[in-house]
Amino acid sequence: MAAWSMTTPQLDPLVPGSDKRRPRGIIHVHSTYSHDGKDSLEELREFAVGHGFGFVGLTDHAEDLDARVFEAYTTQCSSLSTPTCTLIPGLEFRFSQYKGLHLLALGLRRWIEPHTPEEFIALSGESAAFTIVAHPVLVDYVIPPAVLDQVNALEVWNPGYNTRYLPDVSALEALNHLSSRYPRLLAVGGVDMHDRAKFGELYLELRSSATEPLAALSRGDYRIVGKTMSLSARPPTPLMKLATLQWARRVFDPLNRVHGSLRRFMDR
Ligand SMILES: [Zn+2]
Ligand SMILES: [Zn+2]
Repeated sequence: MAAWSMTTPQLDPLVPGSDKRRPRGIIHVHSTYSHDGKDSLEELREFAVGHGFGFVGLTDHAEDLDARVFEAYTTQCSSLSTPTCTLIPGLEFRFSQYKGLHLLALGLRRWIEPHTPEEFIALSGESAAFTIVAHPVLVDYVIPPAVLDQVNALEVWNPGYNTRYLPDVSALEALNHLSSRYPRLLAVGGVDMHDRAKFGELYLELRSSATEPLAALSRGDYRIVGKTMSLSARPPTPLMKLATLQWARRVFDPLNRVHGSLRRFMDR
């Protein structure tokens, strides 16, 4: 993988406290290697450079690749990576006996074919740099203990499932609850981007001294920065903040539903 260094971010700080000088990037990104991805790796690199992102954590659907295609994918990622923008190869895995559980392996160094969440944990431990339980709302926050034991992070903000305005408060609560038993478990935000025209305005901001994004992620040296607020990688989320977020979701969700149906009606 190409060397990664500080980039010159061009994105205005969206949130009070966000710092333009800190390295930043996006993860949970789908390219045309996924059947539902609209952006080529070249387009994603261009998008990232335009937004001042120093890294793009790709998570294409594993079922759309095989060992041979994965080889081409990782080669293309390295050849498109520059000192200021790294394309990090990774995959999103799903399991036929565990509907809704999608596990992400970032910085995947070799092709793996896990058939169960347990196999994913065994295989990714050796081959991936950072692993994530994506959009846990799909499994109603019920995650196998073997996964919680080893996975790096829980995706607590996914604009596709939670909107770009508010994180998944239930995931933050679940993480608070789990943090005494699984103290290594981090919070992470993934854009789940399939089309750069619909960017969810969510990124990860690394500690300013970070020189290698995957190492910074595994240490938890980052913050999740969204359109309206930023969140720490380390649980527990303070109870006051959680209460405010719960209140905000109760006000926002019904309005968002009305807005959604209105838009669908107007589009007819
Ligand atoms: Zn998914
Ligand atoms: Zn995805």
